Amino acid sequence: MRAQSPPAETPEVREILKRYREIWAVNYARALISWDMETYMPEAASRERGEVRAELSKMVQRLMTHPEFVSLVESARPANDFERGVVRVLKRDIEYYQKLPPEFVEEEARVTTEAFKAWEKAKEKSDFESFAPHLERVFDLQRRKAEYLGYEDHPYDALLDRYEEGLTVRDCERIFSVAGELSDLFKKVRERYPERHPLEDEGYDRRDVERLNRHVLTLLGFDFSRGRVDVSAHPFTQEVGLYDVRITTWYHGRDFRRSLLAAVHEFGHAAYEMNVDESYWATPVQGGVSYGVHESQSRFWENVVARSRAYVETLYWDMRAVLPFLSRYSPEEVYEYFTLVRPELIRVEADEVHYPLHVYLRYRIEKMVMEEAVGVGELPQLWGDMMEELVGVRPEKDSEGVLQDVHWSLGYVGYFPTYAIGSFLAAQVARALGRVEERVRARDFSGLMAWLRERVHRWGSVYPPRELIRRATGEDLNPERFLEYLREKYLA
Ligand code: MG
Repeated sequence: MRAQSPPAETPEVREILKRYREIWAVNYARALISWDMETYMPEAASRERGEVRAELSKMVQRLMTHPEFVSLVESARPANDFERGVVRVLKRDIEYYQKLPPEFVEEEARVTTEAFKAWEKAKEKSDFESFAPHLERVFDLQRRKAEYLGYEDHPYDALLDRYEEGLTVRDCERIFSVAGELSDLFKKVRERYPERHPLEDEGYDRRDVERLNRHVLTLLGFDFSRGRVDVSAHPFTQEVGLYDVRITTWYHGRDFRRSLLAAVHEFGHAAYEMNVDESYWATPVQGGVSYGVHESQSRFWENVVARSRAYVETLYWDMRAVLPFLSRYSPEEVYEYFTLVRPELIRVEADEVHYPLHVYLRYRIEKMVMEEAVGVGELPQLWGDMMEELVGVRPEKDSEGVLQDVHWSLGYVGYFPTYAIGSFLAAQVARALGRVEERVRARDFSGLMAWLRERVHRWGSVYPPRELIRRATGEDLNPERFLEYLREKYLA
């Protein structure tokens, strides 16, 4: 263990951190349990596991809201940025646990467990009717949750803040004001791309792509002594501890780009967690600060780095050495394959140009749901209309429309906008960093990482997202940077 002691100066904060160890340890166990659930847990264990998770969640709530702990946090007078971060993060968590009645938390857990199961079946059969009553209950709970948590202008603000500290509907309206331009942009871009790229149909041996992923992750700087790469139904990153960050990817047997880019995406998430200042170890500011900032790191590596011409040209021979079929394709063709732009029905299949439009659609619907401006029964129709307006395609089945995402079944209302923030912020970070293509061409990935570590990663949750973004890039979140990035990449 190389961790240094936390930079706490005041005795109250030192006491808080001592007590926090218990919460930290339970959260560590919860993280490992979650990871296992999505990777290797035997099927029959799911109910038993659910019980364990519920007990551990309650344990954290109990520890967080313990009167002595609460009064310590409330009376603390933080003396430096680290201490202010600790107190800010804890106050947010404490408030959250205090405002939600335990019966509500239990009800939400029960309703979403049922809704998740119903969603899985409904999606499989593309049967929205069977899911609708569950969704009705979930949305009703989210509206009640907003009332418990409180808000100033809009009930949706209460939920947005959970995923992105301080984010409001007003911010989102500003952020998504680029949607119209985005929509126009891809209409120009799309004529340049084939309906289907032959590399999408090239089959591969899974061991080859595993080898390629490992090679690329090593080049980018993934520390295998502090992490693992596994396989799951949907790629994800689970931070267990500062010295244990796990990522997954997937293998489909063809279209190797999907596996490689998923691994690189998750690498970006993992790097953020691994690079937090070691002196923050086991404190409330040890983790990444928000979903949006996190997603900016994954998208930086996935889109800005791995989907760049420099990357494809520089790694062409590395890829070809592992995947013999690439000898039939030029670097230019591989680059085209990495940067295909095409309207898609499914968000997770969307290219980087379309992606934020998929998110915008969900944002608009969630906002209407929170305003009770739309009934659950109207959602499939509304989804189709918006999809046609924004992306230019219309789903024929609900499984490819309103039923495609897991989020709502789990009660994650307010989560989606962070995906767009991630895309936009990645471009903004790239601009602040400068000369990214040049550095990629020189394989100077450690140089890129050093900048990200210094400006973003090392701070963990010490600064609220808005402040971190300003410190890192010199400006507030500015979606114009994303448009600039796309224009340069796809229209130049
Ligand atoms: Mg991600």
